[in-house]
Amino acid sequence: MSIAIDLTGRTAFVTGSTRGIGRAIAETLLQAGAKVAIVGRTLEVAEDVASQLGAGARGFACDVTDPASVRLAIDAAESSLGPIDILVNNAGLTRDNLLIRLTEADWDLVLAANLKGAFVATQAVIKGMMKRRQGRIINITSIVGITGNAGQANYAASKAGLIGFTKSVAKEYAGRGILANCIAPGFIETDMTGGLPEATRSALLESIPLKRLGAPGDIAGAVLFLASDLGAYVTGQVLVVDGGMIG
Ligand code: NDP
Repeated sequence: MSIAIDLTGRTAFVTGSTRGIGRAIAETLLQAGAKVAIVGRTLEVAEDVASQLGAGARGFACDVTDPASVRLAIDAAESSLGPIDILVNNAGLTRDNLLIRLTEADWDLVLAANLKGAFVATQAVIKGMMKRRQGRIINITSIVGITGNAGQANYAASKAGLIGFTKSVAKEYAGRGILANCIAPGFIETDMTGGLPEATRSALLESIPLKRLGAPGDIAGAVLFLASDLGAYVTGQVLVVDGGMIG
């Protein structure tokens, strides 16, 4: 028996897809036949990445902390590529600090980008998905949203919030054929984790049963499963992709 994952005729909007995990997700969805909106803060960068990824990809710009720009980018993507069937809320950022030193500005920024950004984008696509009675919302959270992490109270709160948000959306729209799930990556090698000191990386590696750091493609594979017919009976879940780290 051969199983084909075919997303031909589907359109995906992947926030933060100019590099890292988002770019790998975009590349994988394109390979499966979907049209994909490549999204970052700078239009030139997004367009450049889209042209590297080839036919079916097109670049759009928005800052996920600016709701109006998110809505405009979604409108532009729908006009150009067609109605969005798959929304991947992947854009995210960190402003780490111990609680005692955490500024209100860094709290607000991380919550605005990682949590409110996902709410705004989801709300912008949901009406169309309801009308078409199909849609996949895939939110990239983190294992830290499940376990917590010293020095990341703002980030962990945003990622835990994303899990509650996703489970609620899953319940609210299941009857309309819209599925909503989270993927919780462990330690993935990207710009976000590139600045960690060598000692921290080695300690992290020790705590990963699969004995390797994750690659962006490891997350893209999980997104493909949830975006495709293979994931048709999965909603309201958190798929942990961490090499066994949190057990
Ligand atoms: P990177 O820092 O490598 O990439 C971040 C992406 O998000 C870029 O494409 C960037 O685009 C975009 N971006 C950043 N800020 C904004 C913004 N304000 N508005 C719109 N786009 C923005 O991150 P990763 O690939 O490592 O992470 C992707 C997601 O995975 C994040 O949500 C992160 O929290 C999560 N994650 C990552 C883990 C890891 O180990 N790497 C572990 C667990 C979760 P541009 O600069 O072009 O605007």
